[in-house]
Amino acid sequence: MNQNSKNIAIIGSGLVGSLLAIYLKRAGHQVTVFDRRPDIRTIEFSGRSINLAMSNRGWKTLRDVGLEDEIKEIAIPLDKRAMHVIGKPMYFQSYGKEGEAIWSISRGVLNKTMIDLAEEAGTDFRFNEKVWDVDLPGAKLYTGESEKGEWKAYNYDMIFGCDGAFSRVRHKMQRRSRFDYSQKFIDVGYKELTIPANENGTHKLDKNSFHIWPRGRFMFIAMPNLDGSFTCTLFMPFEGEVSFNSIKTKSDAVAFFKAYFPNVMQVIEDLADDFFENPTSALVTMKCYPWTYWDKVALVGDSAHAVVPFYGQGMNAGFEDISVLYEMMIAHGDDWEAIFKNYQEARKPNADAIAELSYRNFVEMSSKTSNATFLLQKKIEKRFSEKYPDKWVPAYSRVTFSERPYVEALAVGDVQEEIMAEVMKMPAIEMKWDSLEVEQKILDLLQ
Ligand SMILES: Cc1cc2nc3c(=O)[nH]c(=O)nc-3n(C[C@H](O)[C@H](O)[C@H](O)COP(=O)(O)OP(=O)(O)OC[C@H]3O[C@@H](n4cnc5c(N)ncnc54)[C@H](O)[C@@H]3O)c2cc1C
Repeated sequence: MNQNSKNIAIIGSGLVGSLLAIYLKRAGHQVTVFDRRPDIRTIEFSGRSINLAMSNRGWKTLRDVGLEDEIKEIAIPLDKRAMHVIGKPMYFQSYGKEGEAIWSISRGVLNKTMIDLAEEAGTDFRFNEKVWDVDLPGAKLYTGESEKGEWKAYNYDMIFGCDGAFSRVRHKMQRRSRFDYSQKFIDVGYKELTIPANENGTHKLDKNSFHIWPRGRFMFIAMPNLDGSFTCTLFMPFEGEVSFNSIKTKSDAVAFFKAYFPNVMQVIEDLADDFFENPTSALVTMKCYPWTYWDKVALVGDSAHAVVPFYGQGMNAGFEDISVLYEMMIAHGDDWEAIFKNYQEARKPNADAIAELSYRNFVEMSSKTSNATFLLQKKIEKRFSEKYPDKWVPAYSRVTFSERPYVEALAVGDVQEEIMAEVMKMPAIEMKWDSLEVEQKILDLLQ
């Protein structure tokens, strides 16, 4: 696809901005990417690696520009969960059908690779340049050392705001009349910790699993890195009896890990040290609309929709934005007003749907996993979907191993919830949960 060449600025060289640059270069445009950060390729990371999970939607966007195989070289497939439940030996839960996996990938390595690839494709990068203001109708941007200092002005034909959840570009759009905006922080924060590799460089836990230690109001997860280490995330309330606030000293941290995560004892010192060295961060859902301004400015990725990470879909959704934008570029040629209009109309309901799904997953994990009725319901659903995989695709698979729209995943989930509400009303359901009668009831309700 080749469009009339435009002079385009992308604000943000994160995962979404750098991949969008590759797409826009392929379509024949001049592309300059601004980032307030230094070039991450020149920074020595202090051994701490942070990773994320890539799933089908993200891979599709990479595949369509021929990058899937190259990026898979730096990722580790995880085909199952490893569940570390108190009072039970560790057990595995496979994710889905044969061959279905999510992929653990280092955020830093992925971002550096994408910047390299965007640069090879001819993108100009301007690091250490913070954008302070944007003139929306003029597609002008202003950078500088500080908000009050002297600014440098740049003129473009078009600007893409890929500057994350606290976007400056969106901030400018927010001042316009009839711009909808909401943000909601949850009372749970997160901290990233590391389980180091064994001395011979091997992994201390099974490396092809997504490890989860569910503990009701809090949860610990671990994903493998190529160097043998695991990046772990502790999700926990900020306040309360067991909370970030309640762990004040290293011995509190050691006692916490000993009490709740006994099988990570061998690395407890590392975890307790990390606990105080690494920041505690907040989690936000951000929604807004519209995402575009005339044919001049568009938001893509977290700047348009930030979600809590309990489905591992934020980046995947941002990559899917790029796929949809590109589809619109193919459909509407050089008519950027039509491209932007159709892009935002197609994506907004899906962004809202993944925000809702992610939030529900948070509620489910934090408040329902100790509820006996809820657990029984999950057991019935699991049994049924294993027996009738074509009739009952679990919510996780619809979101993670599918490229069908998020709105559909949400709608099917609502129908499944209604069916299960009926099933759970059956007398003595706890005695006959695995009976043919229950199975038949679900089949009837599915009609
Ligand atoms: C704990 C956690 C776990 C997650 N796990 C997953 C996962 O497993 N899978 C998944 O798909 N997603 C995950 N996500 C979500 C994912 O991290 C984000 O969706 C993704 O990083 C968004 O990319 P982005 O490029 O839109 O924004 P960002 O990654 O935030 O990049 C924005 C860029 O813009 C730059 N910038 C900002 N303001 C300015 C300015 N004024 N001027 C110039 N530059 C600017 C920043 O320096 C940055 O480089 C997770 C998120 C969290 C918090």
